[in-house]
Amino acid sequence: MEANLTQAYDQIIARNPGEAEFHQAVREVFDTLGPVMSRNPQYTEAAVLERICEPERQIIFRVPWMDDAGRVQINRGFRVEFNSALGPYKGGLRFHPSVYLGIIKFLGFEQIFKNSLTGLPIGGGKGGADFDPHGRSDGEIMRFCQSFMTELANHIGPQTDVPAGDIGVGGREIGYMFGQYRRITNRYDAGVLTGKGLTWGGSLVRTEATGYGLVIFTERMLRTRGLSLDGMRIAISGSGNVAMYATEKAQELGGKVITCSDSSGYVVDKAGIDLELLKQVKELERGRVSDYVMRRGPSATFVPGGSVWGVPVDVALPCATQNELDGDAAAALLTNGVTAVAEGANMPCTPDAVTAFQKSGVLYAPGKASNAGGVATSGLEMQQNASRDSWSFEYTENKLAEIMKNIHDTCEQTAEEYGHPGDYMVGANIAGFIKVADAVIAQGLI
Ligand code: GLU
Repeated sequence: MEANLTQAYDQIIARNPGEAEFHQAVREVFDTLGPVMSRNPQYTEAAVLERICEPERQIIFRVPWMDDAGRVQINRGFRVEFNSALGPYKGGLRFHPSVYLGIIKFLGFEQIFKNSLTGLPIGGGKGGADFDPHGRSDGEIMRFCQSFMTELANHIGPQTDVPAGDIGVGGREIGYMFGQYRRITNRYDAGVLTGKGLTWGGSLVRTEATGYGLVIFTERMLRTRGLSLDGMRIAISGSGNVAMYATEKAQELGGKVITCSDSSGYVVDKAGIDLELLKQVKELERGRVSDYVMRRGPSATFVPGGSVWGVPVDVALPCATQNELDGDAAAALLTNGVTAVAEGANMPCTPDAVTAFQKSGVLYAPGKASNAGGVATSGLEMQQNASRDSWSFEYTENKLAEIMKNIHDTCEQTAEEYGHPGDYMVGANIAGFIKVADAVIAQGLI
């Protein structure tokens, strides 16, 4: 980090003690902003960095609900409304036992720059709860979502803050939350949430968008070296929405996806992942990846624990969760000759891993650029809601592809302009930041 940034960084760490993931996300951005700050003294004068790092509003609330056994359960809910210089706060809700303020702030912080990169008028926010949906009945999930929304409804709205899904929050949860919002407010505000069902304001392609966008970005990045996914061996971690649709698109482009994983372990399928079977096991039955192996036959093996990164591949797409790919995993991928790494999850590579990829010269795409397809298509859902319209799959997918290509090219050109050709992290951070910083300054000291 350059000297002109360390003072601001130290202050931010001191003001936000114990939030390791937030510190990591801030550091990743600050490490790349030195040249921007030197070229733009107005950013320092207006304390833009300090202002962007301090959320506009943070809401923490109690979520009481009753489980099937009649016991009272208490969880903690969060919504961090980080920055609205470019548009209403926008970002998902995560339901996972690891959730605490530091996780929501890291996600919200990343979301500001990601949303800026999409080119759409959306600010950054994130929320969630330390609720563990695993093993909960449908009734329990519904009661939890209703209780969560009973408080959240006070803070969101189509022009204010527009949540969506993230880990642990998919179409089912969005449905229960939308129902409760509608009931409380007595308004059909379709644009208050994205990721809705197709018959009640949802957008085609939203479900597939993060995974599809990731692969479109990866393909374009490979093309800068005259390569393509066709015929490449690909490791994908995770088995949720992002992993599943990244697998689908990668297979469509001729890639061979040979892994998937969940918190219990990972699968290697030499014949290539059978996506229909994986969808059946994970989406319909809400089962584990080990169930996939039991039904798949001899081409697939299940390894309890561990990670997919020791499997020799050409392309690695981490699509599970933050810090899932560390320095050792990066070293293993590099030893096995990996060509490109692109993040489908938010901050899945540790700082050690990122450094290793950058030093080795392999292609590396940070999530705030490569996984922006999800929130971008949420932006398209908002556009459809605002005009009471619904677009065809093909039209929406073309829009998504265009946005991903623009993000790619913006990152590439910005990295070049700032003297780091090929460094997508530098390109994404700088391009995402400048747009927000200029809007913050233009709108005065608020
Ligand atoms: N949770 C997703 C992300 O990390 C999507 C957010 C949204 O659609 O608002 O970008």
